[in-house]
Amino acid sequence: MSNAKEDRKDEVAELALRRGFLWQSFEIYGGAAGFYDYGPLGALLKRGVEAEWRRFYCIGEGFYEIEATTIAPRDIFEASGHLKSFADMAVACKSCKTFFRVDEGINIGKRCPECGGELVDAGEFNLMFQTKIGVPKGERDESAQKKSEGYLRPETAQGIFINFPRLLRFNRDKLPLGIIQIGKAYRNEISPRKSLIRLREFTMAEAEIFVDPREKDRHPKFDTVKDRAMRLVPGEGEETEMSVEAAVKSGIITNEYLGYHVAKVGEFLERIGIPKDKLRFRQHRKDEMAHYARDCWDAEFLSERYGWMEIVGVADRGDYDLSVHASFSNTDMSVHAQSDTEQEKLIPHVIEPSFGIDRIIYALLESSLYKEQVGKEKRKVLRFKKEIAPIKAAVFPLLNRDELKEKAKEVFQKLREESIFVEYDASGSIGRRYRRQDEIGTPYCITIDYDTLEDDTVTVRERDTMEQVRVPIAEVKDVLLL
Ligand code: AMP
Repeated sequence: MSNAKEDRKDEVAELALRRGFLWQSFEIYGGAAGFYDYGPLGALLKRGVEAEWRRFYCIGEGFYEIEATTIAPRDIFEASGHLKSFADMAVACKSCKTFFRVDEGINIGKRCPECGGELVDAGEFNLMFQTKIGVPKGERDESAQKKSEGYLRPETAQGIFINFPRLLRFNRDKLPLGIIQIGKAYRNEISPRKSLIRLREFTMAEAEIFVDPREKDRHPKFDTVKDRAMRLVPGEGEETEMSVEAAVKSGIITNEYLGYHVAKVGEFLERIGIPKDKLRFRQHRKDEMAHYARDCWDAEFLSERYGWMEIVGVADRGDYDLSVHASFSNTDMSVHAQSDTEQEKLIPHVIEPSFGIDRIIYALLESSLYKEQVGKEKRKVLRFKKEIAPIKAAVFPLLNRDELKEKAKEVFQKLREESIFVEYDASGSIGRRYRRQDEIGTPYCITIDYDTLEDDTVTVRERDTMEQVRVPIAEVKDVLLL
């Protein structure tokens, strides 16, 4: 690994730690692998991304959001197949006894990355966290034990599937039907060693789109995305660039509905600031496809530190989930659909874009961070899009004088009353205050000087160009919201 890569990772991690984006959880107790807490700026950034995501799918696509529980009884995961199949292969080091998840970098043919020891097969590990729901009746009764068994959800999707009959009624028995959910998911990862990339508790944002299987080849809004150029890596082929329409027509993407949603995922990621040249879509090979999937495309981000990494999965889950829940729970999950000649009952298919919010946050931090020479100084700047920047603007009095501070506080208060999250800062030189805001990605700094007291205008400085314009106080909010 080159030093440049190490530096980059250290810079992102150092900044995230120092400025209150991300902290190792349980730090004062020594920490635990796979858990991170979001500090004040990290939480604001994450809420910003989630708000954009909600807007994109609720307003943009007309989907509804629900909130299901994060713990569920054993039956749900027995039916969904997670108890049996949601497992990773592990190897263990013969000398230091550390366990590792088997992937391209680690397998029996390789040596232990910790100590160089010999790696041996350690079998399969189910990734779900188990818990008990209530106090089991009859300690020795195996069925009572099983009944009280619960699991922390490893994806938000099941909470949507098991509510399908009610959701369908809510939608007056009509398809298509799009339901979203944002929330925590838990996976007891074997070797969670890469900051936000492999966590044991993380946030997923998932959309489950229920569609009549006969309509999968025709998405009503396909025209709006069909010309979008995509960098695609087919499961059994070379990387290529083509339009979504060409990918669907040539059968690389199996149907138009899936193609539409792959394109929308690309559109969303670019909208929040993931650079297009660091984005590609890779199709799962048959041997890596999840137990429920018929076709699956990962949106991958090119990290300077970790190489290509999955940030979103887009799967065609077919009728797998509704069928298994229908049969395990003995509930009708079918829809009455009109064909040319008669009414028939069918199980809807599901298209699922599944976003890992924490990986997206990492990708945003890494790809937004720039180091630049400004005069004699170096500045670090996080070039976040305005919509997701944790702080929207900072208000400064030019000098530490009462009359300027008073006016600056007045402007600060006015902007807060407009529901704009702004900061006030009066300490240190103006240059230092700019640097402080640049490195947390604040798009604008507003300075109050003696002219402000005369004519009610302020200086607004833009983060990326560092250009300054004079603006009447009454118009500042329009500049910030542009
Ligand atoms: P999957 O259901 O495995 O396709 O996961 C969907 C998305 O969740 C992935 O694209 C990742 O962004 C995210 N994800 C999965 N596992 C983890 C993890 N252990 N830590 C953080 N994010 C994860």
